[in-house]
Amino acid sequence: MADHYEVLGVERNATADEIKKAYRRLARELHPDVNPNPEASDQFKLVTHAYDVLSDPNQRQQYDLGPQPGFGGGGAGFGGFGDIFETFFGGGGQSRGPRSRRERGQDALVRVEMDLDEVIFGSKRDIEVNTAVLCETCSGTCCAPGTSPATCDICHGSGQIQRAVRSLLGNVMTSSPCGTCRGYGTVIPHPCPTCQGQGRVRAARTISVDIPAGVDTGLRLQMPSQGEVGPAGGPQGDLYLEIKVRHHDTFSRNGDDLLATLEVQMTDAVLGTTSTLKTLDGEVRIEIRAGIQSAEVLTIKDRGITRLRGGGRGDLKIGIQVVTPTKLNHKEQNLIKELAKSQKTVAPHLAHFQQGLFAKLRDRFLNV
Ligand SMILES: [Zn+2]
Ligand SMILES: [Zn+2]
Repeated sequence: MADHYEVLGVERNATADEIKKAYRRLARELHPDVNPNPEASDQFKLVTHAYDVLSDPNQRQQYDLGPQPGFGGGGAGFGGFGDIFETFFGGGGQSRGPRSRRERGQDALVRVEMDLDEVIFGSKRDIEVNTAVLCETCSGTCCAPGTSPATCDICHGSGQIQRAVRSLLGNVMTSSPCGTCRGYGTVIPHPCPTCQGQGRVRAARTISVDIPAGVDTGLRLQMPSQGEVGPAGGPQGDLYLEIKVRHHDTFSRNGDDLLATLEVQMTDAVLGTTSTLKTLDGEVRIEIRAGIQSAEVLTIKDRGITRLRGGGRGDLKIGIQVVTPTKLNHKEQNLIKELAKSQKTVAPHLAHFQQGLFAKLRDRFLNV
């Protein structure tokens, strides 16, 4: 990489003011707004970088020092200040070094709404996910095609900046992440234009998912490595599908069982009948015995929800609600009166306290 002093055309002992003047002069000449030549644009970047380094006293000092032993490209052995520092203070010298631009991406969350009938057997869904994906222009290198990262000339590739600090033991070197390359050890002189040097772009894609039977609201299904692509094309995080089961007008759910209410006309309840119910997965024929009471529960085995774990299905539980006729014509009224006369009917009387019909239905459902 070109020498920063040469790039700016100043002496090595130039003052801060001289450096600033040199930069202004070159910037007026090379700035992309005034000079459309692509070479000028590249030169402008170089000049700006050189100015960034040399106008910061710390960075300039570091640059003037050149590569330090023990860090990035230095020789092995007990020669550098870094080694001495680590000997006394036990710093993890070996593990320190440039950090990778490439990092694992974050997890992503997508909400999926399902109907109850999809829950019974599971469903195959095409789900649109909007996450970061690998940039196809640079394949995650972050560099414009045909270019590559350059070793950071402030930290000389180590990602660390050393500073001499006075202490009881004399001068020791401490290190902190390099501000120029943010600890990566390299800079990207020509960022990829597609991803602005991020190595990833946002995109929507559609994935096919088999949602297993038996899921319930709030459940999160983990799909490994389907989440966000990380910085610099790092490995994908996981994708989580959060399930929401839509309310159903007829059926509700209690664990693996399905609950429903069946209204039975008084005459049917008295005489008994059979009925064909349309359930979520086909028709079921049930028998309503003569004399069935409100709040009785009929259990239809294995017509509930497929168990998420362990297989098999829960039951369908039908709570009976006997409907008293409200509109009788004259003839019907007489028939009922006849019936009342012929039966030794029991007058209304207080019974054991019981909660309302619906509470009772609920209790029965849970205890059957
Ligand atoms: Zn790119
Ligand atoms: Zn650096």
